Amino acid sequence: MKEALLYQKLDNEKIRCVLCAHRCVVNNGKAGICKVRENINGILYTKVYGRAIAQHIDPIEKKPLYHFYPGSKAYSIATPGCNFRCRFCQNWDISQVSSYEILESGNIITPEQIVKNTLQTNCTSIAYTYTEPTIFFEYSFDIARLANEAELKNIYVSNGYMTSEMLDMINPYLDAINVDLKAFRDETYRQIIGARLQPVLDNLKRIKQMGIWLEVTSLIIPGINDDPGEIRRMANFIVAELGKDVPWHISRFFPGYKMKDIPPTPVKTLQMAKNIGLEEGLYFVYIGNIALPGESDTKCPLCGALLIERQGFGVTRNHIKDGKCPECGLKIAGEGI
Ligand code: SF4
Repeated sequence: MKEALLYQKLDNEKIRCVLCAHRCVVNNGKAGICKVRENINGILYTKVYGRAIAQHIDPIEKKPLYHFYPGSKAYSIATPGCNFRCRFCQNWDISQVSSYEILESGNIITPEQIVKNTLQTNCTSIAYTYTEPTIFFEYSFDIARLANEAELKNIYVSNGYMTSEMLDMINPYLDAINVDLKAFRDETYRQIIGARLQPVLDNLKRIKQMGIWLEVTSLIIPGINDDPGEIRRMANFIVAELGKDVPWHISRFFPGYKMKDIPPTPVKTLQMAKNIGLEEGLYFVYIGNIALPGESDTKCPLCGALLIERQGFGVTRNHIKDGKCPECGLKIAGEGI
């Protein structure tokens, strides 16, 4: 185990963790909500440092990031655990684990080895993904600094529940992030996810202000967050607070984990959500987690020209020239695009 960053010592060997917005006060001998950070005699330790439970080479489109080095490969890693308790989690087998399972999982892999693997497999970036990168911050931070020296990009796929203190630390090394905006009602965050909405909204604004490339994903779940009014409020927030050119990924829900009784999101609901996003003024709205012809293509928001053609998670053609639409010359938002 490694001593954690970002915590404060309190009286009687208690500590306050300031890594995520739960800001847990942890008694001696106990762990925080995430189960991965434990107070041992007044010192906070992370139990997941180096425990890469998953390592895969993914297309960057799978994160999803559609406007950040499209067509490139991301070396994708995770450690066990999470600070959320989403009843619909798609990776619950590695995110929702006990303290004991965490210490039993995976082999220790050094940050140096992760960077080496990334270079050897010709990946452009390292993605901290599958589970929540916030809860393996110390590991991702050490890898990200080495990756940055090696001119690799660093990507978080996150629930957006970190503290501003953590964002300030990772900011110099973080190039892009996809943040889940899982609902636009605090009640849903509290009941289904075990968190609060406001810290996520605050972080989305901070990330945008920091100049980190940002894309947003919303999983639309029947009966939970598919009300047109709620979807409109989400889209309006992105337009008003983050900008029209922040890509929004509308993702299809499939039953699983503790939500096996809810059917998959109907295609017409996904299309309704996309239309609302476009009506509110967003330039780039994509439908994901389902193969619908054309729905993952990028089109010019000014003249409608086809810019990037995709099939599955692959880019089949990229028509963008020097970052601009080849038809009307509009600069297309993104990096390495
Ligand atoms: S990372 Fe979040 S959930 Fe885990 S101990 Fe720290 S404040 Fe609590």
